[in-house]
Amino acid sequence: MSKVLIIGAGGVGTVVAHKVANDDVFTDIMLASRTKSKCDQIAQAIGGNRIKTAQVDADNVQELIQLMQSFQPSIVINVALPYQDLTIMDACLACGVNYLDTANYEPKDEAHFEYSWQWAYQDRFKEKGLMAVLGCGFDPGVSAIFTAYAAKHHFDEIHYLDIVDCNAGNHGMAFATNFNPEINIREVTQKGRYFENGQWVETAPHAIHKPLNYPEIGERESYLIYHEELESLVKHYPTLKRARFWMTFGQEYLTHLRVIQNIGMASIEPIMYNGVEIVPIQFLKAVLPDPKSLGANYQGQTSIGCRIRGVKDGKERTYYIYNNCDHEAAYQETGTQAVSYTTGVPAALGASMMARGIWKGKGVFNVEQLNPDPFLAELGELGLPWIEKIDIDLEL
Ligand code: NDP
Repeated sequence: MSKVLIIGAGGVGTVVAHKVANDDVFTDIMLASRTKSKCDQIAQAIGGNRIKTAQVDADNVQELIQLMQSFQPSIVINVALPYQDLTIMDACLACGVNYLDTANYEPKDEAHFEYSWQWAYQDRFKEKGLMAVLGCGFDPGVSAIFTAYAAKHHFDEIHYLDIVDCNAGNHGMAFATNFNPEINIREVTQKGRYFENGQWVETAPHAIHKPLNYPEIGERESYLIYHEELESLVKHYPTLKRARFWMTFGQEYLTHLRVIQNIGMASIEPIMYNGVEIVPIQFLKAVLPDPKSLGANYQGQTSIGCRIRGVKDGKERTYYIYNNCDHEAAYQETGTQAVSYTTGVPAALGASMMARGIWKGKGVFNVEQLNPDPFLAELGELGLPWIEKIDIDLEL
């Protein structure tokens, strides 16, 4: 039995709140965010007085500590923005609370993300006997759990890993991002990077691309981009000779992105406008569609999985494990599209694993370090069924 505090009332927070509300292990649930009215709306949609709400500025450790001291959660699910990871981890340490998130820390003034900042909390979480689980969304999250499952059950050694992320949905808008626009644009406009033969290889943004076939979807142009789980996976699976991440983008999306960059709207450098300091990408976020609003007209599926090559019993083997998620079905259940859904379901399930003591440990963990079996045994029932294919052409 457990008390859970969810921080962040965006698209992902909405899904987490729905799933946590249906999980009996959580006796008390609080949803807190910068704008309390958004928390109230979500709590009302779920109904049954199941969810309490609160206002909190998660950039402020003291405010977080006060909230945690008054509610006394055993777990915090952080689905605010990556900027808040460290302040929330600090407050968890101060109050003796376990922690889970879906995206690694990024400083606001530098479009750069890596695990070093959060891995540096290892000893402090260990000393306090607390558990922090990092990156428990879909990618990062299920992508790493799929990899752990493959390594445990299907391979003696994994050598080549390609994480493939396709969104074949159509929301009918000229341009919109599927999750927080600021974070999303910062992620997809950075240089490409992959791991090969013990080294990181950097490319110009979107320089490497090829058509890949996705189940029930067909062929989609897929672009090599850097993604955070590559960093922890190559550390935890030293047999990997190569690890890459591919994401599909339509031509229309890429053209808009190029224009946004060329005219300086993707910049994170503050500028003065009419005597007020603004950050162009934050202003852009304010005028772009709210990702939460896309759900109502979103049709089609996402397909995210891992294509792995390695050896089993002395023979080469190929393996593909994936989930397809339907935007309309996600919307009917939670009022959000499949990108928020595929992130929120694993976060809620990860927290449930911790609350039930199925995932336990002291310190800071990436999800591939935890037992994938009980998690994957429940993921399908919770809305994200997965499929495995063995010894097929991986196209990569
Ligand atoms: P949204 O922008 O929709 O929601 C973010 C929420 O956090 C908003 O409610 C926002 O408040 C709140 N917030 C922002 N800053 C603060 C603050 N200082 N204090 C309190 N609350 C704050 O984002 P998403 O729901 O799309 O994404 C949530 C997280 O999920 C992000 O970290 C994102 O990177 C991650 N993600 C992970 C994926 C994965 O597969 N691992 C995939 C997609 C997303 P307000 O409403 O006032 O703006």
